[in-house]
Amino acid sequence: RTRDSAELIRAEEPVLAHNYHPLPVVVARAEGTWVEDVEGRRYLDMLAGYSALNFGHRHPALIDAAHRQLDRLTLTSRAFHNDRLAEFAERLAGLTGLDMVLPMNTGAEAVESGIKVARKWAYDVKGVPADRATIVVAAENFHGRTTTIVSFSTDETARAGFGPFTPGFRIVPYNDLAALEAAVDETTAAVLIEPIQGEAGVVVPDDGYLAGVRELTRRAGCLFVADEIQSGLGRTGRTLAVEHEGVVPDVLLLGKALGGGIVPVSAVVARREVLGVLGPGEHGSTFGGNPLAAAVGTAVVELLETGEFQRRAAELGESLREGLEELVGKGVVGFRARGLWAGVDIDPAIGTGREISERLMHEGVLVKDTHGSTVRLAPPLTITAEELRSAVDALGVVLGQA
Ligand code: PLP
Repeated sequence: RTRDSAELIRAEEPVLAHNYHPLPVVVARAEGTWVEDVEGRRYLDMLAGYSALNFGHRHPALIDAAHRQLDRLTLTSRAFHNDRLAEFAERLAGLTGLDMVLPMNTGAEAVESGIKVARKWAYDVKGVPADRATIVVAAENFHGRTTTIVSFSTDETARAGFGPFTPGFRIVPYNDLAALEAAVDETTAAVLIEPIQGEAGVVVPDDGYLAGVRELTRRAGCLFVADEIQSGLGRTGRTLAVEHEGVVPDVLLLGKALGGGIVPVSAVVARREVLGVLGPGEHGSTFGGNPLAAAVGTAVVELLETGEFQRRAAELGESLREGLEELVGKGVVGFRARGLWAGVDIDPAIGTGREISERLMHEGVLVKDTHGSTVRLAPPLTITAEELRSAVDALGVVLGQA
């Protein structure tokens, strides 16, 4: 006998670590912008796997690439070459305007790898004395969950109980060039920031901030590492969020959508002078650059090369912004948006972000709250104008229900 949603939720409790508090929906299948639960109820997916599903669920071109690769070769390890990796790296470098690729799996691994590369560059190229390199990061950042990454988090929930922490990081306020300037010195290997802070609530910095970071890091002789794991690959209406200010970072961290929602694929993409510091044996990953990941990643790059998804995000992003503006004062106290990505602050008198997310679930729309009172919207970039409208209307309905 198959178990229903309530039984499956109860069954998880004793056997799964409680590090998440999911909405009470049990998804069993999905296609495009829609997911279906165990009982066959359909929901519009307005979270898209935190942007890992930018092309929707089971995009035909990505599923086809995965199927074809599954029938030929799935894993070699990097002990040997595989026939898919060169093309993946060539096309990803071409898409981003950078030179070299270090393939990894998850976002946190890309961040860890970026930190290692920046430190090695600081010692080998910049000449920072051994073990003295510093990396400047922003408050309210989210870069992942490893011990080193939570070492420079400012979120106590993410840190408490996990020390001792990794030294070598300086934290400055986000969107504050003067503070950044004051923190950078001759020991600085890199400035590591999200061009838009996703988990913080889709915090978009002032115009000029990213260009300012580029200018400052160039002048200071340190690297600009942009974590575009959530903001990149079409989400904001451009391939990369840094493009909104015409900026090219030294190091780009990609993940999430790079795996097409099928397999974990991440990458450090950088100029040759930077990634060139790694020699054999100095870094690695058993699954990084595996042929299945490379095949899916290449198909993702092919989709982005068409420009269609970036265009959709930009155009539909205008509709999203207009729809949200209509809700300001009607349960929404404010919002930040770029492309098909928005952080919507809910009036606390109406409900918490969690309560609004649960009510939206009952209206057939799935979203995720963040930081108590914010609801984040990040639908697949394949969403139609009508579907987007219905999601915003549903938000209006649940806000009116209070
Ligand atoms: N960096 C950013 C900007 C992210 O948003 C995330 C995940 O939300 C990560 C890194 C970590 O990615 P992963 O969960 O794949 O380790």
